[in-house]
Amino acid sequence: MNLKDFIYDVKDFPNKGVNFKDITPLLNNVEAFQYVIEQISIFVKESKANVVVAPEARGFLLASAVAFNTKTRFVLVRKPGKLPRKVLDIEYTLEYGTNHQQMHVGDIQPGDKVVIIDDILATGGTIEAIIDLVNQQQGQVSGISFLADLTDLHDKSLLSKYRVQKLIEY
Ligand code: IMP
Repeated sequence: MNLKDFIYDVKDFPNKGVNFKDITPLLNNVEAFQYVIEQISIFVKESKANVVVAPEARGFLLASAVAFNTKTRFVLVRKPGKLPRKVLDIEYTLEYGTNHQQMHVGDIQPGDKVVIIDDILATGGTIEAIIDLVNQQQGQVSGISFLADLTDLHDKSLLSKYRVQKLIEY
């Protein structure tokens, strides 16, 4: 199956000059979505993970189905103001300005084996922030899975010390 057929390029979204990868056609195709969830589930099992972690919003769509399929716990990473209890917060740098990611304190237990799941790897800022949140709670990152890697937007050595699954590379 050629998964690229189900990811559309949208020029100048959300801002001029950005070429946005739209994954919604993949969610809208039964075979393609099931194939992706199965592939990520195999990776989670091979990683011997007991927890999957994902950021909003598109990461949730993949990780929730994978957690159900693999009988693993699911931990949410969200933007500020969304998680109601005590959070760990990490600030990271964007091209212009900064961003934050948060996780509930106690959602990861020391020694948990974690696979982080997201739809797109771009500059790597988001994934590095999530790795930090997992490490702060003494979780072990056993693997990282992306639907698609935009390889031009980050250093080749990024994530080289982790087991990484990429179903598509651009
Ligand atoms: P990074 O922090 O620059 O690596 O950006 C990755 C985050 O931004 C992921 O959580 C993605 O969901 C989102 N993202 C970046 N570029 C795209 C895109 O082209 N399509 C969909 N999501 C994107």
